[in-house]
Amino acid sequence: MTTEAAETAGAVAVHERTTLEATLAELEDRPPSQFRSLATPAALIERRADELGAGDLAMRARLLRAMSLVREGRSEQGGRRAHQVLAWAQQHDHPFLLARAHRVLSLFYRQIGDLSEGLSHAVQCVANLTDDEPQNVRALHLMRLAVALDESGSTEEGDRRFREALTIATEIGDLDLTMNILNNMAYTAFENGDEPGARELIRHMHEVRERSGRDFGALEIDTIARIEMMSGNYDAAEQALHIILDGATSALLSHEGDAPAVCMLTLAEARRLSRRYGAAQEALDAAVALAEERGLDRVRAQIREEQAALFAATGRYQEAYDEHRAFYAAANALNSRQREAQARALQAVFEATEARRASEHFREMAHRDALTGLRNRRYVNERLPALLSEAVARRTPLSLAILDLDHFKRINDTLSHSTGDTVLQEVSRLLTDAVSGPMIAARIGGEEFLLVLPGMTAEEAADCCERLRLRIRAHAWEPLTGTMPVTTSIGVTTAPEGRATPSSLMSLADRNLYVAKREGRDRVVADL
Ligand code: GH3
Ligand code: MG
Ligand code: MG
Repeated sequence: MTTEAAETAGAVAVHERTTLEATLAELEDRPPSQFRSLATPAALIERRADELGAGDLAMRARLLRAMSLVREGRSEQGGRRAHQVLAWAQQHDHPFLLARAHRVLSLFYRQIGDLSEGLSHAVQCVANLTDDEPQNVRALHLMRLAVALDESGSTEEGDRRFREALTIATEIGDLDLTMNILNNMAYTAFENGDEPGARELIRHMHEVRERSGRDFGALEIDTIARIEMMSGNYDAAEQALHIILDGATSALLSHEGDAPAVCMLTLAEARRLSRRYGAAQEALDAAVALAEERGLDRVRAQIREEQAALFAATGRYQEAYDEHRAFYAAANALNSRQREAQARALQAVFEATEARRASEHFREMAHRDALTGLRNRRYVNERLPALLSEAVARRTPLSLAILDLDHFKRINDTLSHSTGDTVLQEVSRLLTDAVSGPMIAARIGGEEFLLVLPGMTAEEAADCCERLRLRIRAHAWEPLTGTMPVTTSIGVTTAPEGRATPSSLMSLADRNLYVAKREGRDRVVADL
């Protein structure tokens, strides 16, 4: 490639990055209800960003997919992806992704029923916001924290965040966001049994709707109806839900998720409570159709409960009883399935961490000798070259010693193989006690051991080995070997400024060991 061609290619890459970034920003800005529209473009962007080597953009796209999966109810895949993004963001110190990954994880944990983990991610999703974040993002994150606090029983704390989020959304004039926050506040008030508070919020929602000129969505309609029912205003509830019965239903029915079925169920309940049983049954049948068409098992179970209540209200007690049993069976099946899904989701999410820990464990095992727990030859082979390079770089010496037990065959033959094993373990303990800092003690063969002594001159190494030889011979062997002594021969060598190869060091030490054996054993032979 010519310089010019390279520059052109570079410019194209920069241009494409800008385009991808703009598309991502647009996807990230879409309202939560449009989550289904994110998956396909996000997958394309992720692949392209990977090809361009734009890791940050790939992770942003991956997080969008994670969000979409979590909202779709595919918790395992969503949670796993969000955790991957979080790990990346932590590694690269990327506050933008850090804050957003925590928010998605907060939703994920809430969905699988782990409220406290959901809360701790919600706290992080706000804590990691930087000052230059757009205000609507700040409001969105505060709202997540508010819901998480509320659901964990901190109503006041939750309320404070709700109000903060609301102030921001109002100030920047984002009416969709304002409506979203108000709806969450109202539903929370309903769940807390705070009727006056809920009513005040509904009033506020009507105001915002008038200003925006946009109809309520299914979620808002259901909240309003529920709150009307709180005070026995069943007609008002039905009026709120009226849009479902109008010609204008198509907009509502095209709403993603379970909102339309939930609205129908609320309508059935309102009608039953105002003793309009025929109409209640009609609404309930419509709810069944919606729930079955969309595979909404949870709503389907709730519908059974309402059906039982409706049968009972009309004196059809046998059917009410049967329906109630069906409801319990469905709810139980659902709960156990949810527990399974929860277990699977958690397993998937922690798989990565676990796998890393397991591989560290196995790596550690692969570097240890099973009988004595000392390092093994493989570890020395992997570690010694690096230690030698360090010694060269610092112009410091490195010594190496090979130890071989004397007449070890006799111990095996006269006593027993297992006594021999115990002797090997005891010697290993003495070696372990003798090393510290960067020194290595390893078992490299049957009754052969190795010491790597970084920083030790030939003299220091000879001294060290001599002390060790005396220590081994002086050990209280009697209980184990009776009158049979346990002694070692040691060959030690030194690379004064680290200039040696691992194999040259080994063969010099081995040669000195051979001399020690030949000269009568139980001694140290060094280069000196
Ligand atoms: P020297 O080194 O003093 O010349 O005599 P030696 O008797 O120690 O000689 P050699 O190196 O030939 O024998 C080593 C013996 O160590 C042979 C083998 O039976 C024994 N051995 C090797 N590995 C183990 C082990 O894991 N456990 C036991 N108990 N014995 C082992
Ligand atoms: Mg030997
Ligand atoms: Mg030996």
